Amino acid sequence: MSKKVAVVTGANKGIGFSIVQGLCKAGYAGDIILTARNEKLGQEAVGKLKSEGLNNVLFHRLDICDQTSSEELRKFLEKNYGGLDVLINNAGIAFKAAATEPFGEQAEVTMRTNFWGTLWVSKALLPLLRPNARVVNVSSFVSKRSLDKCSPELQAKFRNPAISEEELCGLMGEFVVAAQKGDHEAKGWPNSAYGTTKIGVTVLSRIQAAVLTQTRAADGILLNACCPGWVRTDMAGPKATKSPEEGAETPVYLAMLPTGAPAPHGQLVWDKAVQEW
Ligand code: NDP
Repeated sequence: MSKKVAVVTGANKGIGFSIVQGLCKAGYAGDIILTARNEKLGQEAVGKLKSEGLNNVLFHRLDICDQTSSEELRKFLEKNYGGLDVLINNAGIAFKAAATEPFGEQAEVTMRTNFWGTLWVSKALLPLLRPNARVVNVSSFVSKRSLDKCSPELQAKFRNPAISEEELCGLMGEFVVAAQKGDHEAKGWPNSAYGTTKIGVTVLSRIQAAVLTQTRAADGILLNACCPGWVRTDMAGPKATKSPEEGAETPVYLAMLPTGAPAPHGQLVWDKAVQEW
């Protein structure tokens, strides 16, 4: 029951796949659960890693937008491992710049996956965290850029170290309603659905870290948001500057922070360095 276990979401391709590969290559001493919403694509990804001799990888289905799916993964982890040592919330979506869906629809759909999906997985799995666990929420440098484009009032709310999860959820909901009405910019929001969802992921990480500090101070758990960089995947396209393997470096670094490391915690990290929020 005490075997170590790591979970990576959205890992059938892109950065998530490379994170699983990177954890294996970094010598992660436990099982790594590669999750994907599509079972066939997930199993194929596991097969590819096994063909590279990376044998401590298993598949479990997880659609982050389906709370039942998170619940099933929680039960699987409880039954087979009795806890969780590493969680990497990587799954995410972005509409292409040329997408024709109305902005309000893009905002609703992107928020559902990137913010609410990450929150739902966290609600199901964070209670399983064992002492010295590591949690990495894959956000983006776009979250910082979008924060800087918010009105001073919104910036102050998103930078407030005392912001609650409830307040953050309310703000993410307000953005979607404003995007649907078309007055989001008049209300001080940036004109980026993706960027706003990633503000949500970064601020959620700050809140989750603060809660862990309050409730489990002695357990040495570290939770951070990160940016993988601009990475050549289906999301960012072939002109991006980093390979998926390079994009996985910071998430893997945060997941493998050694036992006893006091920091980083509750930070936004990219290129392995803490960024100012
Ligand atoms: P990809 O589009 O290549 O991969 C996204 C992954 O997320 C896929 O496995 C996809 O599954 C999965 N996914 C999407 N929705 C769900 C869902 N509801 N449930 C489970 N899995 C889901 O993107 P990247 O690898 O580039 O992105 C990974 C993360 O990195 C994202 O959070 C992204 O926002 C972030 N990021 C990426 C950057 C880049 O330059 N690429 C820059 C900054 C951040 P499926 O194959 O089924 O669609």
